[in-house]
Amino acid sequence: MEGSEVKEAPAIGIDLGTTYSCAAVWNRNRIEIIPNEQGNRTTPSSVAFLDEERLIGDGAKNQVAMNPANSVFDGKRLIGRRFSDFKVQEDMKLWPFKVTRGRDDIPTIVVTYKGEEKEFLAEEISSMILGKMKEIAEAYLGKAVKNAVITVPAYFNDSQRQATKDAGTIAGLNILRMINEPTAAAIAYGLDNKADIIGKVNVLIFDLGGGTFDVSLLTIEEGGTFEVRAVGGDTHLGGEDFDNRMVDHCIREFYRKWNKDLTGNQRAFGRLRFACEKVKRILSSATQSSIELDCLHDGIDFSMKFTRAKFEGLNMESFEECIKIVEKCLNDANIEKSSVEEIILVGGSTRIPKIQSMLQEFFDGKRLCKSVNPDEAVAYGAAVMAAKLTNVDDESFRDLMLSDVTPLSLGVETTGKQMHVVIPRNTPIPTIKSKIFVTNKDNQTSIRISVYQGERAKSIDNHFLGKFNIYGIPPAPQGFFHIKECLEIDANGILTVTAKILSTGHTEKLVINNENRRLSKEKIENMVKDAEKYKLEDQEFKRKMDACHALEDCVYNMKTKINEYNKLNRSEVQSESIKKIKNAIADTTKWLEDNRVATVEEFQRKKLFLEFACASLI
Ligand code: AMP
Repeated sequence: MEGSEVKEAPAIGIDLGTTYSCAAVWNRNRIEIIPNEQGNRTTPSSVAFLDEERLIGDGAKNQVAMNPANSVFDGKRLIGRRFSDFKVQEDMKLWPFKVTRGRDDIPTIVVTYKGEEKEFLAEEISSMILGKMKEIAEAYLGKAVKNAVITVPAYFNDSQRQATKDAGTIAGLNILRMINEPTAAAIAYGLDNKADIIGKVNVLIFDLGGGTFDVSLLTIEEGGTFEVRAVGGDTHLGGEDFDNRMVDHCIREFYRKWNKDLTGNQRAFGRLRFACEKVKRILSSATQSSIELDCLHDGIDFSMKFTRAKFEGLNMESFEECIKIVEKCLNDANIEKSSVEEIILVGGSTRIPKIQSMLQEFFDGKRLCKSVNPDEAVAYGAAVMAAKLTNVDDESFRDLMLSDVTPLSLGVETTGKQMHVVIPRNTPIPTIKSKIFVTNKDNQTSIRISVYQGERAKSIDNHFLGKFNIYGIPPAPQGFFHIKECLEIDANGILTVTAKILSTGHTEKLVINNENRRLSKEKIENMVKDAEKYKLEDQEFKRKMDACHALEDCVYNMKTKINEYNKLNRSEVQSESIKKIKNAIADTTKWLEDNRVATVEEFQRKKLFLEFACASLI
């Protein structure tokens, strides 16, 4: 998309998934799911770094077995997390790409790109995927896309939300709003079933994707009000865990049979992972399937039969965990399971029959609603929100009102390293809540305020968000001064904390956005520049390949023409001009073999030369 005359496209909705992403837009008076250049409605959230180019989406996923160490996926599992996080450490064992500890314990992905070692943060990888979704939308709409609504798992904490927002900025998008994935799916359901919603309906969204699990309980009101009552989930539970367990099982089997450990063999790992995911999908419709991999490790062929029962056995603990989370969400919302009118399945992993049967059993046999498309509902809802926020007026969502909740409690550390909750989890957002604290020492002149997110009693067991000091408290006996600590969550679920000395009015603010975010403003600006640089390099590479293919086509056409000429003119004696043409074709063919990395201009010049030499044939 280039040229200043290009008009701006409508705002789009993007579901940035762990394994697949999907974009949608309000266009021609309806929501359209945007297909990618391959015609697929979802795009793999993968980026591959090669010797000459960078691939994002289908291209990246298709070459993963050949180039495992430089094929990055699962960026969403890393985003907003610390390197030392137990879950990151666990995932790393199964990733074929390298992750190292960066500054401030931020995980850094290390790949070889164009022959050089390069480091990327998860935000940058996600920004590449968002950039790809932006390009896909621009190709579809024929206009530049600027504004987007991005979805995040309801159970994402503040750092994970911030980091996702940064990824959007790096991709050159203006993020209008971030909404929770299950809420977006509920919007899709609500709009599709508008006519059937009479009075109030309690719906449970069960969203199990590639990397995350979310449950939301909403009350949808006739007319279009969506009130989230409670959310629950696990930002580290999904289809990839099921794949990993299958991979683990295969590795153990391989070891048992051949006494060989293939864990260091990245290529074997990549191939196994790919094959396991495929078998997992097949087991959703068939009761058995198998993996057949030639020369997997040390020249040994590997085959393994998986029955559906075996797959279920390997993953039963996770399936049970999903049901426990549903139960907790109902308790939090204070709703009996019999009062849930609709159970809506979202996310690719809800196709697993055992998950469906366990959920149905939990709801005493109630029919599960499969009418929304599990892969597209989230992007659909995000696109509705994008249209609404850009003042598109349509009867179907004119009265749409959304009230979401905060997934985790927010609080400050008090004496004894206790977590003092200021905003309890499942509080409707946006919200502001405050608490008054007093000085706890004589002549105390400053107070440190440490902010945490989570449900544990001890502050250190929760997720640390940031800290700041309020100075300037006049000397006085213990308990004399009152400090009001105020926590505010905006509509994106992002937090700002302020502290005010009540008697003097002196105020300090912790805008988690700036001071405490993982990436400084400057760092984001640099990343935006890098993203632009990589994009230009990708475009240049494409131009080069187009020029190379045009020359190859030209050689092929000339060869065909010469063959046709030979058939028609069987004379033994070849004219000088035909000899010259044949020589030109042979020269160009040889040149192409020797110059795969020539410049666009060289390819174009060669093509002109060949066309000139063959002018009499054309
Ligand atoms: P999502 O994040 O919603 O795109 O879901 C992607 C996850 O769904 C991946 O882990 C897929 O392997 C998984 N998935 C997709 N189709 C199926 C299927 N038919 N059976 C089991 N899992 C599936």
